[in-house]
Amino acid sequence: MDKNCEKSKKETKFSLFFKKMHKKFDYMMFPDDIKCLFCENDIPNFYEKPYCAECEKIIQVNDGHRCIICDTPIDDEAKVCDNCRKHVPNFKKAFCAFVYEGVVKNSVLSYKNDNKRYLAKGYAICLAKKLKDLKIDFITFIPLTKKKLKERSFNQSQLLATELGKILDVPVVDAFEKVKEEATAQKFLNFAERQKNIVGLYKLKKIDLNKNMNVLIVDDVMTTGATLSFCSGLLKNKVKNVYVSAVARTKLKIKLN
Ligand SMILES: [Zn+2]
Ligand SMILES: [Zn+2]
Repeated sequence: MDKNCEKSKKETKFSLFFKKMHKKFDYMMFPDDIKCLFCENDIPNFYEKPYCAECEKIIQVNDGHRCIICDTPIDDEAKVCDNCRKHVPNFKKAFCAFVYEGVVKNSVLSYKNDNKRYLAKGYAICLAKKLKDLKIDFITFIPLTKKKLKERSFNQSQLLATELGKILDVPVVDAFEKVKEEATAQKFLNFAERQKNIVGLYKLKKIDLNKNMNVLIVDDVMTTGATLSFCSGLLKNKVKNVYVSAVARTKLKIKLN
């Protein structure tokens, strides 16, 4: 039994090693600046628009009428969504490139779950267009727990922040730590429950801050904005303005109580 146990242990180590190597290899070898973000066909003008004309017809760029605070699309004439009216976020304003639906959703899920790191550059190009007029002193990102980071092998928000920092020429600072996982996955909870569920999960690291700073926090997807708002709250009274940004924004459908 011991021998078998030893053998399977070795196999696990071995297969883990290969899995890791494969992930690295995949990242190094994949041409990262010619592929459409959504269908992965080659496109000629990646740095101007990192998605093709066909995909442009079926995606929703987040440029319609939307909440002036959290950037969620709004169907009626209101300037501020119900969510922000009832629970004022800790950030000043959100900037999200796409609506989180259809091929955009598939792309973002694949980015983090299938290790498609090369997509980060294209996402960052789209976000940079939205953020180009904003004064930012540093960019930071929503962290993963150490365990999750090991499992996934990269932090999707950190990589986005890094690519965005390169384009905007702004430093990226590792400002937060996630000390434990949510007791219940956020997707099963309403807004108020989500807010409660994340209290104490994130901490601010010891970093240099001052009252004149404008900070941007980056995440891959903004659903209710509970996590981004919580982390913004950790910075809020220590800096001048906290802005947040995500590749994609969900339409507000969630129950608000
Ligand atoms: Zn395409
Ligand atoms: Zn809002």
